[in-house]
Amino acid sequence: MTPTEPDRRRAEARSEPLRALLIGTYEMGRQPFGLASPAAWLRDAGVDVTCVDLTRERLSNDVVSRAGLVAWYLPMHTATRLALPIIQRVRDVNPDAHLCGYGLYAPPNAQLLAELGVTSVLGPEFEADLTDLAVALGEGRPPPAAATQLPRLRFKVPDRGALPPLAQYAALSDAAGGRRLVGYTEASRGCKHTCRHCPIVPVYEGCFRVVAPDVVLADIRAQVEAGARHITFGDPDFFNGPTHAVEIVRRVARTFPDLSYDVTVKVEHLLDQVNLLPTLRDTGCAFVTSAVESFDDRVLEILDKGHTRADVARAVEACRAVGLVLTPTFVPFTPWTTLDTYCRMLEEVAALDLIDAVAPIQLAIRLLLPERSGLLAHAEVASAVGPFQPDGLIYPWRHPDARVDALQADVTALVGRWVTAPRREAFEAVWDLAHERAGVSRPVPEAGASARAAIPYLNEPWYC
Ligand code: SF4
Repeated sequence: MTPTEPDRRRAEARSEPLRALLIGTYEMGRQPFGLASPAAWLRDAGVDVTCVDLTRERLSNDVVSRAGLVAWYLPMHTATRLALPIIQRVRDVNPDAHLCGYGLYAPPNAQLLAELGVTSVLGPEFEADLTDLAVALGEGRPPPAAATQLPRLRFKVPDRGALPPLAQYAALSDAAGGRRLVGYTEASRGCKHTCRHCPIVPVYEGCFRVVAPDVVLADIRAQVEAGARHITFGDPDFFNGPTHAVEIVRRVARTFPDLSYDVTVKVEHLLDQVNLLPTLRDTGCAFVTSAVESFDDRVLEILDKGHTRADVARAVEACRAVGLVLTPTFVPFTPWTTLDTYCRMLEEVAALDLIDAVAPIQLAIRLLLPERSGLLAHAEVASAVGPFQPDGLIYPWRHPDARVDALQADVTALVGRWVTAPRREAFEAVWDLAHERAGVSRPVPEAGASARAAIPYLNEPWYC
């Protein structure tokens, strides 16, 4: 790559080392791993790094104007959407800064980012490339060409020193009603599965990368020393590499016996690795999140989820049998949802005694169709979508039955109003609304053995 005019001006004018500014806009209430990890790499390379997590801090014009490289961490849809206006602001304040977007959502949105003036777009395995970029800019060299293949990195222990303290982030309400400071780490990235709706698939294409156990343990140690009493493993699927996963949780339990943690495991793995569930329980797993998505086998097949409605029931039973809490997530509103199937989903949640395990926002989630979504090629989706909306970063779709779209909008508004209410109350309100719209009258079943107080949960709702 040849240097751009701003790159050249910056290199000529620079009398001090390059300053890199890493910006996070949203990471589901967690202290951002995607700033801490590259900060360690950049500092090791002698780059002066500033991290700003906009969910907890303000971005000052002074910090922006001193940066030679400004890079946004774009791990998910909401984070990317929130970054767009900030990119414009940074350009206005510091037109000479080299702009970079990195993370899962950067490559699919490369064209839009380029239109906004972002010159370098790096993928979700970004640490080495970002470091090479910063070093090259610092030496006045042209930015290196972006890697064409997903790199295999030797991860470093994240540097969390410049981030806001863990007390400012989401906390865990534990089963005893206590509150635990939460840390976050990743033992793997990517996924070996290829679910059609998943934003990981177009970028990782069915592969994943593991982080060395020593690095994971060191990152956890640093967060425990900073007060964490619970760790969220952000691996897209913790059982993609079960041997690796088990080594880590056993070492965590031996080293930090009072620490709890949570993981995400797909239904298929909960069943094919059922013998590992007691290990999760015995090593401090407070809950397992699992992307159930739907109870409709046709929808599950379209999404290529690798499980059926009956599998979900078996996974719930398997977890319950060993005393593991399962917290399902859903995509209840798809082009294939009907008023009847939505009600049936609520009825299934109740029948499986999962009402208290489901965050109310999960009842309102609408299928997202971002750039490169594998679903865009599906005939029934292709006929329902409109042109790409750059401000929303989605292909909007309209349900053929307007009553379903109206229900989705009303459920979203309803759970927004009930955000601090007990989950069962929010569920009952959604139940009543949905059944009224479907023209049926059915009371919410009585609570089963599982009570809200017994379900640990993070106090930040879940958006992606
Ligand atoms: S298992 Fe989960 S992370 Fe993996 S492709 Fe499917 S939805 Fe994505």
